[in-house]
Amino acid sequence: MILAVIHLIISVILLVLLSIHLRNFIRVRTTLETIKTQVNHDLRSPLNAILGFSDLLLQTEKDNEKIKFLAAIKSGGESLLTILDELAQRLSKTNTAVRRSPFTPSPPGSELKSKTNLKNEREPLILIVDDMIENVVFLEKILSKSGFRTISAMSGDEALEVMTNYLPDLILLDIVMPGLSGFDTCAQIQSHKEFIDIPVIFLSAKKDEKTIIESFIYGGIDYVVKPFNSPELIARVNTHLQLKSAKEKLNILAFTDPLTGLFNRRKFMETLDREMTREKRYDGKLSFIMIDIDHFKKVNDDYGHDVGDKALMKFAEILSSSLRETDFAGRLGGEEFGVILPQTNIEQALIVAERIRSRIESESKTDEIPQFTASFGLAQYRKELDNSSMLTRDADKALYAAKEGGRNKISIFSAE
Ligand code: GH3
Ligand code: MG
Ligand code: MG
Repeated sequence: MILAVIHLIISVILLVLLSIHLRNFIRVRTTLETIKTQVNHDLRSPLNAILGFSDLLLQTEKDNEKIKFLAAIKSGGESLLTILDELAQRLSKTNTAVRRSPFTPSPPGSELKSKTNLKNEREPLILIVDDMIENVVFLEKILSKSGFRTISAMSGDEALEVMTNYLPDLILLDIVMPGLSGFDTCAQIQSHKEFIDIPVIFLSAKKDEKTIIESFIYGGIDYVVKPFNSPELIARVNTHLQLKSAKEKLNILAFTDPLTGLFNRRKFMETLDREMTREKRYDGKLSFIMIDIDHFKKVNDDYGHDVGDKALMKFAEILSSSLRETDFAGRLGGEEFGVILPQTNIEQALIVAERIRSRIESESKTDEIPQFTASFGLAQYRKELDNSSMLTRDADKALYAAKEGGRNKISIFSAE
């Protein structure tokens, strides 16, 4: 009996000791986790801001004494940052099981909801996405100082919302944020067709190889480690904006006809194929007009090639201004043009063609250009047509009939 009681007492003492130890163990882990969060995010961000702002002030300060103070603040900040780096490294070694940091809300007063700086519409617009107000304010300062317009969002969701109203030229995106992470935000941005060409530069205090590589997989164009050097960040922003604009110019060159500014043949046929596929799916109506300028060789022969070119430009101008936003016009070659009229039956297409025909006849003549006319061939999409060439062939047959019929005429293709 005594033995059983002693046994029981020892068991209870062991259990109590074990539970105390477990509680301490859990408390230590929780504390380590909290410290790591503070180190990695909450302390680092304001410290980066101190470093950034002192750097910014140092660039313009003339007073030697103030320069000394600022340099001291900066060097103090840098020392603190080194200590934080070491601490974070040690914590990672001691407690490798620490979960991904929980997030803390932004400090009070940080409700910088989509604050914009949109005075000059012509300057590139940069969207800053960061959950730390210090980072947003600092980035706004250095970017506007370099002549950029800025807009900001303090979460990924807010960024996506802002982008429904403003289309930025470039995005500076933080990675660690509450809610949508920078990576998820980037993936969502890239899933929108209209946002796909906007360059995203990730800005993060994380500098491990895995995160950096991942940032490119998620669609980032560049990666900048915080604290960053302001002139270097501006140089990167400028480079990516220049690359974006060069890409846009190349795209335009690739699909437009340089003389008239209309779609070139390749882009036009691609568009026609796409629209025909859409008609097939939705059972809609699509009409196609082929236009050829009459006796154009004579314009060149009588007035010279330059006047011929001006006549082609005038023709394109009249054509474009006669169409709806949803129609497509292209130069198929020489003095031959095409028009795609989605959701338009042949009777409605005839009205459009007649409007263009009469405008060409009455408005083509200017001081430099002699009056000219054009002939039109119309065809409506039929289910048996598999590709764009089959529809253009129908319209071409109608165009031939219009030429044969005396020119300055419209003819409609008939399958019979
Ligand atoms: P038709 O009424 O039968 O269509 O007669 P046309 O003279 O218009 O047709 P033809 O095919 O005999 O001649 C087309 C002319 O278009 C010949 C060519 O020099 C001219 N042309 C084609 N492309 C250009 C261009 O880019 N600029 C200029 N100025 N002329 C061009
Ligand atoms: Mg952050
Ligand atoms: Mg011709």
